[in-house]
Parts: sequence; C-alpha cells; structure tokens
Amino acid sequence: MDSFIPVNEPLLRGNELKYLEKCIKTGWISSEGSFVKEFEEKFAQSVSRKYGIAASSGSGALDIAVAALGLKKGDEVIMPDFTIISCAASLVRQGIKPVLVDSDSETWNMDANKIKEKITPKTKAIMIVHIYGLSPNVDKIIAIAKKYNLLIIEDAAEAHGQFFGNKPCGSFGDISIFSFYPNKNITSGEGGMVVTDNEEYAEKCQSFRNLCFKKEKRFVHDELGWNYRMTNLQAAVGLAQLEQLKDNMKIKQRIGKIYQNAFQNLPVTIAPPNIENTKNTYWVFGLLVNKEIRHNAEYFMKKLGEKGIGTRPFFVGMHQQPVFIKMGLFKNEEYPISKILSEKGFYIPSGLGLTPEKQEIVIEKVIEVFNEL
Ligand SMILES: *Cc1c(COP(=O)(O)O)cnc(C)c1O
Repeated sequence: MDSFIPVNEPLLRGNELKYLEKCIKTGWISSEGSFVKEFEEKFAQSVSRKYGIAASSGSGALDIAVAALGLKKGDEVIMPDFTIISCAASLVRQGIKPVLVDSDSETWNMDANKIKEKITPKTKAIMIVHIYGLSPNVDKIIAIAKKYNLLIIEDAAEAHGQFFGNKPCGSFGDISIFSFYPNKNITSGEGGMVVTDNEEYAEKCQSFRNLCFKKEKRFVHDELGWNYRMTNLQAAVGLAQLEQLKDNMKIKQRIGKIYQNAFQNLPVTIAPPNIENTKNTYWVFGLLVNKEIRHNAEYFMKKLGEKGIGTRPFFVGMHQQPVFIKMGLFKNEEYPISKILSEKGFYIPSGLGLTPEKQEIVIEKVIEVFNEL
C-alpha cells in the first residue's frame, strides 16, 4: 500500500549528513571517532549531568548501568510491571530479582503509592521508568528511596526533552539511561546513553561497554563486559539530532494536542496533557479502549491496518511474559491495571515525520473505525 502511514517516521533535517560526511571523509567511523565524545559531553550537559557514556542501544545502556551499581545476586529492584522487557532483562540476566509494581490508572506509569509495600530487606534500588510521555511521581519515589536508603536507576529512554518539576528527566537517577532508537524524540539510528554524576559509575560503564579491557594489560580481564560501543557514525547523527531536540518537542506537542482534541468524544481514555509537576510530551499517542467496548486493541489495530494506518500495541506486563513465567518468576502475582493496558491499549502514528496532512487522515480513519462499531 503506497499510502500506508507507518506508526513512526523519523525526521532528519539538520546537520546529520554534514557530520556523517565528515566521518566518511576522515575515515573515523568506529567508536574511537571524536563525535562520540562530543555527543556524550553535550548530551550529558543537556540533562544537567557530569558524565555521558554512549552505548549501542538503550537496552545495552541499561545492562551496563545495572552492572555499574555492583548489586549482588538475590538483591531486589523495584520496577514497573508495565514497561519494555529491557528493564527486567538487565536485572534478571545479572541475577537480580525484579519486584513489580502496578501502573497508576491515570498516567499508566508506576504507581508510587504501591512501592512501600514491596520493600524488603533485600531491596537495593527502585527503577523509575518514564512511560509514553508522562512520568511516575518522581518526588514521591525519591522520598521513599531516601528514607529506605535505596538507589535510583532511571530509564528515560522515552523522556528526552521531558521535565518533572523544573528538572530534566535523566537527572533523577544515581544512574540514568536514554535510548536513541528512531521512534524516540531524538535518534542515532540505534544507540543509547548512560548519564550520571558519579565518577565511579561512569568509569565502570566505560569499562563494561568495552569488554572490560584493562588499561594496563589490554587482553587480561577482571570482569566480563559487553561490546556495546557506539560508532562515530551513530554519534554524528545523534549530535545533529540533539541540536534539534527543542524543535522536535514542539512538533510532538502539536501532534499530541491535535489528537487530544480530535478524539474527545470517542470511547477511549487518553493520558492527560498535564499532571502535577509534569507535562505530557506525547512521546507516543496512546488510545486505551474503554471497558464497555467489547473489542480489544487487537481489533482496532487490525481495522486501522486495513485502512492504511500503522499502529503498535501497548507493552505487555512483565508478570505476563512467558520467558519469566518459565523461570518461575511472578507466580500468582496480579497487576490489574497493567493487564488492562496491555489488552485495550495501542498507539497511532505520531512520529516526528508525520505531516499535518497525514495526521488528518489518521484522525479520519480512527473515527471511522469507532463509528463502524
Ligand atoms: C526504547 C526503550 C528502551 C530500549 O531502547 P533500545 O535502544 O531500543 O534498546 C528501554 N526502555 C524504554 C522505556 C524504552 O522505551
């Protein structure tokens, strides 16, 4: 279908080509190139952090961030049930136990009021994840972490350009991460970044992303790392994108507001434009089909696909993941709000490349599908 409108189209309209050309012409294409350092420094600065450690993906950034904290086997980390697999995977692979918390029904983010009951003597950290353009109650979570002496891991993969109160997302964790996958607010094709103010964590992350080569004796290893290095080509694109972040956020606002108005009368729930201390950045535009509608998200996604509109389902909660159930995790645990989100939620095209004309078509088709019920 020629006229298919995909769920995401990136927008590459700045210095991407110019910087890439420099990489090619100078031959600096590996992770040793100077764009990597420049991107790390400028990105870290943009979220008020001291150190940036670029990685080959957001998931890789999570792996090295968790490793840098030096948690032990059997330690517990509290995290949202409703998130991407990467969050739990980074813990489980390192022998750490994810302890889940259900979503808040208004923001779809981790319900800060349900954290305390999950704390045990083994709890070492809380993972804050900013989901779909809003945040959990960061103030409350930080207060709990302080009181119980817990570390904060922050996954801000969806939260470039977002603030909670007057502080940028990515500035709240002892260690925080971002992703630069093409559907994020800025992209490097594939890529991620750890940011922190802690020098020791920063050094550990540099080592873990680079196979834990030793400075003194290169091919002797005290620990096992990964090759999660970002290339100079990716950093060139990322740096050019960072220059456009403010404009990108305005585009997201425009798209979000137009959808918000257009769908007011549909039997769907939409995340609010503002909640206390944070403004919806509309990283994606989600529709949660109301309970009284017999059909699940799957039905609407199929119908929209037939009309040339791309969609994606919402996350499926960690407690419902076959891979974790097989491991005996989360037995008999229930997270009812997260479960409804995964059954009834999907998102529609809202990439930075979505033109106003295409957005009008999406609106028309979405309304059509609901009218056909
Ligand atoms: C996209 C995303 C990631 C993973 O990033 P990749 O670069 O795709 O590996 C991690 N956490 C959240 C919340 C994300 O949305």
